[in-house]
Amino acid sequence: MKVKIIEEACIGCGACEAIANGVFNINNNGIAEVNLKKITEENKELVMDAASSCPTGAIEIDEENE
Ligand code: SF4
Repeated sequence: MKVKIIEEACIGCGACEAIANGVFNINNNGIAEVNLKKITEENKELVMDAASSCPTGAIEIDEENE
């Protein structure tokens, strides 16, 4: 699963961080970052929840690819 933040779309609301803490964090520029190493089978659902909860659709998920 590939996860990417569309930086221009992210408003830094922190929802993704709150839902899947450790996978997403807000960087010094106020934009979400993904820590790909933290994506595991166990937290995949949370990552998907975070993506669907993002108010601007800034989290792009590609489930087909590693
Ligand atoms: Fe950015 Fe979306 Fe995360 Fe909010 S939920 S910080 S808009 S990526």
